[in-house]
Amino acid sequence: MKENSNMEHPKYAFFKGEIIPISEAKVDIRTNALQYGTAVFEGIRCYWASDKKKNYVFRIKSHYERLLDSAKIMMIDIKYSIDELCSITLELLKKEAYEEDSYIRPYAYNSGLNIGPKLIHNEQDLFIYTIQLGEYLNLSKPINVCVSSWTRIPDNCMPPRAKIAGSYVNAALQKTEALLGGYEEAITLSSDGQHVSEGSAMNLFMVKNEKLVTPPTYNDILEGITRNTVIELAKNELNLDVIERQIDRTELYTADELFFCGTGAQVSPIGSVDGRIIGNGEMGSLTKKIQDIYFKVVKNELKKYSQWCTEVK
Ligand code: PMP
Repeated sequence: MKENSNMEHPKYAFFKGEIIPISEAKVDIRTNALQYGTAVFEGIRCYWASDKKKNYVFRIKSHYERLLDSAKIMMIDIKYSIDELCSITLELLKKEAYEEDSYIRPYAYNSGLNIGPKLIHNEQDLFIYTIQLGEYLNLSKPINVCVSSWTRIPDNCMPPRAKIAGSYVNAALQKTEALLGGYEEAITLSSDGQHVSEGSAMNLFMVKNEKLVTPPTYNDILEGITRNTVIELAKNELNLDVIERQIDRTELYTADELFFCGTGAQVSPIGSVDGRIIGNGEMGSLTKKIQDIYFKVVKNELKKYSQWCTEVK
């Protein structure tokens, strides 16, 4: 078997302050976070540049900054600095020595064994592990999506700007409904049901009259790092106007192009919404341009953005 085939990964986890074999990283069934979802997490991608035989982690600092923000909201005390979290991650990736794209899952949680959902008087801990991860959504063939009957959650209920483990029940309901209905993904509406918010675990962009439009942060979205990357690249590299504004459901049906973006989703074209074909059903030309630039950037092929790529060495 190939030295680092899927079967053999992951080998390690950072757990209780040290890197150990992942088979030994176990939590007690009484763990508070397991009972109540009292945890925050991140999803970070590491790209394998096969030509250079190098691994690059994309925007690692931005992800750890967001993890600390999520943790602050959830009163989880992370005892590591951003630099420490970055170096633990790089050490883990170095030990795994992936020769394919991978994904990092840092998870800070209430590790106490007490009954009761509360955020104080709890033991807390952090683990990190990595997995192999190829495409999460189709990147070449536009996907068919529906607008979910499940709306997104409001900030004063379960803050969508934080990546809280328990909030992903909302995403699971949306995604499952879409899959059961024969669609590949769901688009969700804001908590008031009035405007487009995002996908189950990805942000959304619409192209209309050569302009790029995306829902604003006050429509209950996660403030995606890929969303921010796409905005920067569209402005700087394609000279596009990017507008953050509310989008109505029916605007989706008449959009010229639609695509999802996210760490997992990357840049994924949408071919239809609720049975209405978007454009001619093929990947739109601007979506393709953005996708091409995105993949150059994440593999550290554009010097201008190399500060976003951290080499594993
Ligand atoms: N929205 C939700 C709900 C998500 O879970 C994700 C994935 N983290 C995104 C959007 C995209 O965010 P990012 O680009 O930072 O991965």
